[in-house]
Amino acid sequence: MADTLANLLSETRQFPPPDELAANANVKAEAYDRATEDRLGFWAEQAKRLHWNQEWSEVLDWSNPPFAKWFIGGQLNVAYNCVDRHVEAGRGSKVAIYWEGEPAGDTREITYADLQQLVNQAANALTDLGVSAGDRVAIYLPMIPEAVVAMLACARLGATHSVVFGGFSVEALSGRIDDANAKVVITADGGYRRGKPSALKPTVDEAAERCPSVEKVLVVRRTGEDVAWTEGRDVWWHETVERADTAHTAQPFDAENPLFILYTSGTTAKPKGILHTSGGYLTQASWTYNAVFDLKPDTDVYWCTADIGWVTGHSYIVYGPLSNGATQVIYEGTPDTPHRGRFWEIVDKYKVTLLYTAPTAIRTFMKWGDDIPAKFDLSSLRLIGSVGEPINPEAWIWYRKNIGGDRTPVVDTWWQTETGAIMISPLPGVTSAKPGSAMTPLPGISADVVDDEAKSVPAGGGGFLVIREPWPSMLRTIWGDDQRFIDTYWSRFGAGAGNGDEWIYFAGDGAKRDDDGHLWLLGRVDDVMLVSGHNISTTEVESALVSHPKVAEAAVVGATDPTTTQAVVAFVILRGGVDDGDELAQELRNHVAKTIGPIAKPRQIMVVPELPKTRSGKIMRRLLRDVAENRSLGDVTTLQDSSVMDLISDGMKTGK
Ligand code: ATP
Ligand code: MG
Repeated sequence: MADTLANLLSETRQFPPPDELAANANVKAEAYDRATEDRLGFWAEQAKRLHWNQEWSEVLDWSNPPFAKWFIGGQLNVAYNCVDRHVEAGRGSKVAIYWEGEPAGDTREITYADLQQLVNQAANALTDLGVSAGDRVAIYLPMIPEAVVAMLACARLGATHSVVFGGFSVEALSGRIDDANAKVVITADGGYRRGKPSALKPTVDEAAERCPSVEKVLVVRRTGEDVAWTEGRDVWWHETVERADTAHTAQPFDAENPLFILYTSGTTAKPKGILHTSGGYLTQASWTYNAVFDLKPDTDVYWCTADIGWVTGHSYIVYGPLSNGATQVIYEGTPDTPHRGRFWEIVDKYKVTLLYTAPTAIRTFMKWGDDIPAKFDLSSLRLIGSVGEPINPEAWIWYRKNIGGDRTPVVDTWWQTETGAIMISPLPGVTSAKPGSAMTPLPGISADVVDDEAKSVPAGGGGFLVIREPWPSMLRTIWGDDQRFIDTYWSRFGAGAGNGDEWIYFAGDGAKRDDDGHLWLLGRVDDVMLVSGHNISTTEVESALVSHPKVAEAAVVGATDPTTTQAVVAFVILRGGVDDGDELAQELRNHVAKTIGPIAKPRQIMVVPELPKTRSGKIMRRLLRDVAENRSLGDVTTLQDSSVMDLISDGMKTGK
């Protein structure tokens, strides 16, 4: 970024918390002051929400930056904290998971007492398969309860899980198994996807052949389809786990015991094995869940629509909700199976009160039309959240109005695989949220927006998002590659860059600070465009396009231009029922010019049926840049659907 980001878009709407929510909120405004006064003391108080077998002697050891240790000497068992302690407190009959399979009518209800038995059985079976503390276990499962059980069983044994998203290929899976040297792989014959069984075991078979570390493959029977079987290596879940002893004593482990490795989605480069440990991770996942979702365990029903293969599934399906004793819905399938109202049918059926989903889903629902959610009773919802990408202000408004009944707070939560838990977000009982802004760092988090010299930008300025002080759920390293950890996150600013002695975490995202001091995430630094000497954020131009009533979704890239260095090229998806007339492109270009200024006016606008997305649903602008610059396409392996690119490239050639 040459100077700072041009601060173009202005959004003035603001939505205060509903009075009742504010009055009864779990976390009130005082938390900010408390954390400012004594950050480490604040985190120590949050850690005390967990059960520790041995208390720590020191909250943070930052003597060897950027390698942090939290809660030194403390010992705990993560699975005990997520399951057993609720049962011991007399809440064993409370539902932990309402599981909704994709095939209609395929459901399960699992109480905390049930979950305890399942996790104990899995822990015993894994022990029999040779797994012990410190071993790595790869998990490659669909969204079935066994995925949660498998993760917790690893945690219970002090083993490190590495969950690989069930949609990933042999390459991706074997690369991840190999990198972590996993001893056991837990998988299923398959899962259901869009109404059909979709096999998983063949991918594991092929991957295991390439990975000498794999000793055992534990297979859940889900679809009942035939699978190849390797005697001596493969074992059925129902013949081992389901027959194992239901009693198991959890041992405490060190606060810094590795809990999981999770590979980032690879929107940018070779996936990085992000390592998270136990005590600090669970403290922040647990506290942020309680604070941001304002969980009332006796009455709330929570639903996070993420896949367990992403960090959102780790922190806000497994560790955050379960450590708080929440009741939650887990859904196996896609939002359009068997119809486009499935999500709202589920909210209605389970009377979901807290919903957490992603902008990509919200924009898809906008495209499908308001009439679909309108057919269902969504009045149970009291808070709705967003994560994964910047949410365009119009998508935020659409979400609040059509899903939140114009009543519920919307929490736009910024965080990353690397941060482990939410970092920047409104507090629902405190913050008057602005559509499109993640607002302020949570108490105890020192996020900042800085210029090239790591100086905080003033109100109204833009620059790089950084974090100035260590936080409990921060990544500890990149698995097996400390140098890459230092190079990627700590060498851009501060001590790691040879400037001063402050270690500053570089998040890789651009951000701006508005006149009230609120933060706006502007997408990846790599996606920022340089137009006639101005840095312009793709997010802001996309948001301007989405604010036009005919546009559901937009992706913007900077394409090389002889006169302006880069020119804005936009790809748009229209809302359901809208006609793509000839004047539309001109109308949209003018709309952008009017909304944010002539400098941001797209040189070209393409109406497309779909956008290229990663498997976690994020727009891959890198590929659109290839199209806009008439280059052959780069690596498409992490694309969810590679035929999308053919559609877009063809459209480009015919000028549509
Ligand atoms: P990779 O690092 O492999 O390219 P990724 O960054 O997409 O993949 P994640 O860790 O899942 O993998 O995503 C974190 C990123 O998602 C953030 O750095 C940010 O760019 C974006 N993001 C997440 N939540 C928000 C949000 N609320 N607002 C804006 N951006 C967000
Ligand atoms: Mg990232």
